[in-house]
This record gives sequence, C-alpha cells and structure tokens, in this order.
Amino acid sequence: MKRRQALKQLSGAGVALLTLGRAEIAWGASIVAVRMWPSPDYSRVTIESDAALTYTETFVPDPPRLAVDIQNMSLNPALKELVSKVVPDDPNIAGVRVGQFSSTVVRLVFDLKQPVNPQVFSLNPIAPYQNRLVFDLYPVAAVDPLEQLIAQRLKQLENSVAAAADPLGDLLAERGLSAPVKSQPPKAQAAAKPQKTDRIIVVTLDPGHGGEDPGAIGPGGTYEKDVVLQIALKLRDRINQTTVNGNPLRAFMTRDADYFVPLQSRVKKALRVDSDLLISIHADAFYTPRPQGASIFALSTKGATSAAARWMASKENAADLVGGANQEIKDTQVSQAIIDMSTTAQIKDSLRLGDAMLGELGRIGNLHKPRVEQAGFAVLKAPDVPSVLVETAFISNPDEEKRLRSDAYQTQVADALLKGIKRYFESNPPLARSRQI
Ligand SMILES: [Zn+2]
Repeated sequence: MKRRQALKQLSGAGVALLTLGRAEIAWGASIVAVRMWPSPDYSRVTIESDAALTYTETFVPDPPRLAVDIQNMSLNPALKELVSKVVPDDPNIAGVRVGQFSSTVVRLVFDLKQPVNPQVFSLNPIAPYQNRLVFDLYPVAAVDPLEQLIAQRLKQLENSVAAAADPLGDLLAERGLSAPVKSQPPKAQAAAKPQKTDRIIVVTLDPGHGGEDPGAIGPGGTYEKDVVLQIALKLRDRINQTTVNGNPLRAFMTRDADYFVPLQSRVKKALRVDSDLLISIHADAFYTPRPQGASIFALSTKGATSAAARWMASKENAADLVGGANQEIKDTQVSQAIIDMSTTAQIKDSLRLGDAMLGELGRIGNLHKPRVEQAGFAVLKAPDVPSVLVETAFISNPDEEKRLRSDAYQTQVADALLKGIKRYFESNPPLARSRQI
C-alpha cells in the first residue's frame, strides 16, 4: 500500500518535471527503443539509448520484483511504452511500473511471476544497435531442455491423430525419465502398446539468431531469424514422422519462437537431450546482391578450409554480441573443454552428414560451394555430436530472399534436409548409447 502511494506521488513529480521543458532536462541519454522478449528460457527487457546509461538494480524476493534506477533520466514516452509491452503469457514478468523517482532518477519496477536470477548488463553499440541496457530474468527453477523436448512433443501430439503410434514412453525411458509432465491425449492411452523400437534418434534443430539478433537482413527487409525458424519448424514436423531402419526420429528445437539463445546455450541444450545430430539453420548474406546458392559447413579444429569459410564462422560467432550474451558469466572453462573434446571422428561424421544434405540441396536449387566447408563455428562444438551449419540460400540476393520467404521453397529445403538426414543414418546407423544423462 505504502509503495503504491509513493509511486502515485512519484508520477505526480514526473509530470511536474516534464513541464519544465526540454532545456532543463537535456542531460543524460535519450531512449531510442524499448523491447521485451519473453521466452521459456528467460525473459529479456532491452532499453536502447544513444549513450550508456548509469543504473543501479535491487532485487526484492517477496513478492518477487526487480527495481532498477536509471540516473540522469526523465520519464519519457519510450520508457512508458514498456508498461504496455508486457504480454499475459510472459512466464516471468507480471507487469512493469515506471515512475520519476527523483528529479534525476527514473525507477522501473518489474513485478515477477516467480523468483528469478536477474542478470543486468550493458552492451556497447554494435550494428544495428546503439547502447543497450539488458535485463535477463532467468527463472530460479530453470527449464530443463529434456522437459522442453517432452513439452514440444506433447504440444505437437495434442494436435495430432498420429498420437497413438508415438513411442514417447520409450524416449523417456531411454533417458531415465518415467512419466510425461502432462497426461497424454486419450487416443494414445486407448491405443495398443507402441511397437518396441530399437533406438530413438534425437535430431537437434538450431534455428540461428532470434530475439535481439535478427541475423542477416534481406534487401526487402526479411529477417534471417524468421525464415530459418519457419524452415526449422517444417523440418521438425517431417523428422517427427520419420523412421529409419525401425528407429524413430525425434526433433528437438534449441528455440521454437523469437528469442535469443546464446551460442554456448545451444550447444549445452543439444548435449542435455543427448542429441544424435545437430543442424544449425541459417541464411547467408554478402555485401553485394549477386552471390547465391546454399552451402554447408562443418567444424574445423585446425583452421578454416577457405577464407570465405573463416569469414562466415567469425560472422556467425558474432551472434552473441548482437543477440546480447552476458560476457561476465561466460563459463570459459566449459567452453574450452568443449573445444578440446571435439574429435576427428565427430568431424568425419559431420562431413558425411553435410555431403548427404548438400547432394539433396543441389537438386532443388543452386549450390554456393560444391562441397562441405570447414571452420571454427562455436555452435558446432558439441562433443561427439555430428553437427553441421546449413546456409539455406543468400538472403542478400533479391531472388533468393523471395524464395526464402515462400512456403514452397521452405518446404523444399525441409524435404531436402530430411532426405539428407535419412541417407546419412541409412549408411551410418546410430550406435548404442554410451553416454548417460
Ligand atoms: Zn546466420
């Protein structure tokens, strides 16, 4: 109650201040934009400004809320916009209050739905952004990728009559889990016991970029992050209906919506669900409109196979800078371990997978490079997991941008990649699982 009264007084003060006019409040930074990115992993709030912001933050556990004071700032329409940007199904944020706390300080209060580990950090300007102040609110009870895999599968089953034949129970048993988090649809219960299968193959699909990171932007304004997600969702549906030599395939998405996942988190997620493959899906871009065609990359531990491949890897590895990963918490020990554990055998398998996919992509369109190239892509470093990065087409080429947007081409790409995956497993049957998770 007390707080509410205080805020009421604060907003009164804000109005008074705003009437002073521009000249008196011309200090500090101007807000360029505010953005919110709710997701199952974490909820993010970004405040973009034309100069770095000075701030202090306080987390209050009961009821859970995060208060942030921004210095040398007056309440303005852009900040007020935050209030209306909270969506009802944000897993973490219940609401935002914005007020003029003192003549020089704006206070933001995020009311939270559950206890969170807040990470507040600022990012230096990098195209296409100016200075950013980022609040990442991670639920204290973090979402386990394995549960995400099950939830993704159940969501799909709810809309599917093919539910009866789904060996989800086997998948769970194989990974040491018993019951699904939600009860299965009645159809599944009424059906006969699913056929015993040899082995469930998990294919991790990694749509590049997301959230703050649009990826490459086409001349017509198409975002790479959007088209690669659409292609990945199509491929997911196909994978989930596929069986190779009696082994059912199941897709796991590192993201299935528009939010940013740091590169290392993508790798960790793939490892957590004990992936048999990782396929990172992207769209290429160049400074000029002419380059075209699809290409596929695998990891290299000893230098890139070409200057272009090296350039591509450094471009894709910069995703964390644009997408905004908190560099301070980067677990350098883990990342170094991951790099060291990538093996020659894994890379050999990645090249086989890439070859199979490239052959199929060549049937539906142009290839930019006739063979799989190699470079040090951070997202391809999951130890023991054959991993490739697919550049589906050049989004910077106006014709290919149009194709990337079209349902027909997205379907063709998904079909081609699935054929490549099947061909790979037909000649490289999955081994018995050796890793325990
Ligand atoms: Zn990309």
